[in-house]
Amino acid sequence: MARSGAHYTPHSRNDSSMHDSSYRSSAHANPGTAGSDTSRPSTPRFSTTRGDASYAAAVQKSSASKNPYLQAQSSNSKIKRDRVGFVTADKGFVSAKRPMTGSKKPKRGMTRRDFIMLGGLAAIAAALPIGWNIFRPVEIVINGARRTYNVNTPMSEILSKEKISVTAGNLTSVSGNVITEGKGYAYSVKIDDKDLSFDDGNNYKIHGGENITIGNGGDIMEEYSVETVETQPKLTMDGTWGAVTYVSQWGKVEKKEIRTGKTSGETADGEVTQKGQDCVLKTRNLQPKDGKKLISITFDDGPSVYTERYLQILKDHGAVATFFNLGQNVDEMPEISKKIIDAGHEIMSHTYHHDVLTKDSAERVQSELDTSYESIKKATGVETTMVRPPYGAFTEKTWAVTQGKMSASILWNQDSLDWSRPGVDKIVANSVNGIQPGYIILMHDGGGPREQDLEALPQIIDKLHDQGYTFVTVTDLMKADGDVPEDILTGKAKMPEDAIWPTELG
Ligand SMILES: [Zn+2]
Repeated sequence: MARSGAHYTPHSRNDSSMHDSSYRSSAHANPGTAGSDTSRPSTPRFSTTRGDASYAAAVQKSSASKNPYLQAQSSNSKIKRDRVGFVTADKGFVSAKRPMTGSKKPKRGMTRRDFIMLGGLAAIAAALPIGWNIFRPVEIVINGARRTYNVNTPMSEILSKEKISVTAGNLTSVSGNVITEGKGYAYSVKIDDKDLSFDDGNNYKIHGGENITIGNGGDIMEEYSVETVETQPKLTMDGTWGAVTYVSQWGKVEKKEIRTGKTSGETADGEVTQKGQDCVLKTRNLQPKDGKKLISITFDDGPSVYTERYLQILKDHGAVATFFNLGQNVDEMPEISKKIIDAGHEIMSHTYHHDVLTKDSAERVQSELDTSYESIKKATGVETTMVRPPYGAFTEKTWAVTQGKMSASILWNQDSLDWSRPGVDKIVANSVNGIQPGYIILMHDGGGPREQDLEALPQIIDKLHDQGYTFVTVTDLMKADGDVPEDILTGKAKMPEDAIWPTELG
């Protein structure tokens, strides 16, 4: 568990944009708004004082030179300009002494003579936008009543003139309990069908034609401190048994805010800043789409002195295969592994030392994987994170110690039992009988005398060809299945940077 502190200014619980970070930053930008609210009566009337405070807040957030309303005021009302000037100068945004009508002056280079030559038209044209903005009356509908105001009149000014009775929201705790009635936002503003945040509503300047609804004010949540709580992902299994097990979802840490109210002392869940997810291992049998008769034949414990003869048989009988090489054997015969790849077959890891991984320490499991991957890459250039665990021994607990170094465990559906040397006919029968599309056959090209296999292999391939089967690599069998995620299908999937490998079972 990791915690980090942060402070947020209060904001409205009822506001539809409360989960939007942009709303919170607007609360940061104008902390004075909440403060001025708290001095209001519980059922407010829109006094001049509040209107001016809101107006000042509006100006504070606006750029003086771009604000036509401000220009209009500055040329029209000395008193208001002074008040605006005081507020803005105090906040350091705009100088009180700054000439507000500067943008309306003739451009540099124009002479007095130019004006005369234009017969004064230019002066009229220059003055026109100001007059237009000040004096153009527009109609609005406010709470059902038709009203006329000049364009760009701010909402705060309209509300100071309209007699609208609404109820202010409350100051609430982090868990939603009322701390003080009436100390929330004074009112809410809806323009046509759009609810505005309190600041946006207060600063809104009319265009004309709006249908404005002034409603009850939203609640303001008390100030609170934030701690971030992390929840680690767990390792979960999807399916009970199958020939293949692969990572169908990588684990991610969940980060959630816990808020502690500065007034109430209550704690409550805040936003989930990072959605977490468990790591999911899917275990199942492969099923080629559209019932395609695809199968894989696999050889463990090589490379060995027999392997090249396997390659010749596969070539002669038109089959591809997947070889699960032991790292220590690859290091002894790297050229044989290279020949496997050059012949169009596939190599995956069978670990380095052929350990029973379920009995290994976490460090040993990881080094068995890493060193075998390295040997295969060095000999063939092939990168793999797919593994056949020796003896098929691999449990959920073993997965938990891999640290995400393995993307898939590949077992089998048909065990030829060739390791017990039961005779050629038995090996053929074990490999072929009861086979279904998507099945994986287990044989060996290392680990002991392989003469029975070499005799059985051509028969196995021919029999299955006769039944309409096509041999493909394990990766291609997984591709044909259609359920395996894209990154796993590369054969060399690694845990993404933003993921985390769980050590706890779900
Ligand atoms: Zn083996």
